[in-house]
Amino acid sequence: MELGEPDASGRRRPVPIKGSEFDVAYDTVIGAIGQTPDIPADFKVRTGRGNTIQADAGLATSREGVWAGGDAVTGPDSVIRAIAAGRKAAISIDKYLGGDGVIDEELTPERGIATCAGITADDFKVQPRVKMPCLAPEKVVGNFTEVELGLPEDGTVFEGKRCFGCGYRKQISRAPLPPAAGKAAVQPGTPSPVSGIN
Ligand SMILES: Cc1cc2nc3c(=O)[nH]c(=O)nc-3n(C[C@H](O)[C@H](O)[C@H](O)COP(=O)(O)OP(=O)(O)OC[C@H]3O[C@@H](n4cnc5c(N)ncnc54)[C@H](O)[C@@H]3O)c2cc1C
Repeated sequence: MELGEPDASGRRRPVPIKGSEFDVAYDTVIGAIGQTPDIPADFKVRTGRGNTIQADAGLATSREGVWAGGDAVTGPDSVIRAIAAGRKAAISIDKYLGGDGVIDEELTPERGIATCAGITADDFKVQPRVKMPCLAPEKVVGNFTEVELGLPEDGTVFEGKRCFGCGYRKQISRAPLPPAAGKAAVQPGTPSPVSGIN
């Protein structure tokens, strides 16, 4: 396949490349393309294309008092849109229950971040990933046994000590390089001049 011209939505769809077909012999093929929700009949909600649950703009379904959102409504989509659907449905449910639909109450205060990233070893920047023990190739043919065996306890603890403070990058300015280093002071929150890094 190759990407074709953008369609009405602006998205380039894959189109077959003529004459690119070829045959290969396999002993096992697992088709893992496409996803459809499996909506039990006793949910009693109207479903539509691709067996997705039909919902209105406020995500109310055809069944009184039942709302739906996420992939089960849109079909395969993204995490952030599923989260947004949760908020949209909450607003709609609040109004249904007589509220004003304002759900901006902050239940958990935003936490400040520690300014120390927690250096745990001398080679902090280059700690290699712990190797995942796997089944030997001859043992995985003809069965569905899980190939990755899981990290041993010390490997799990080691990986768990990595810094997961992805938000730090937003709080710490890029270190000035010479000759700028001599002129510029490091200001927290300064946007990075490198495109794609914020
Ligand atoms: C391989 C893969 C990679 C992806 N990568 C990304 C990515 O990088 N970024 C991104 O944004 N999105 C990604 N997605 C899409 C993302 O995972 C989904 O859009 C998102 O998880 C949808 O959230 P959801 O809450 O609607 O559904 P789900 O996350 O599917 O949650 C539905 C939940 O309902 C439960 N459930 C199902 N039936 C019943 C039942 N009858 N009773 C009770 N519980 C039930 C399921 O067990 C599940 O826990 C990926 C999806 C796949 C499959």
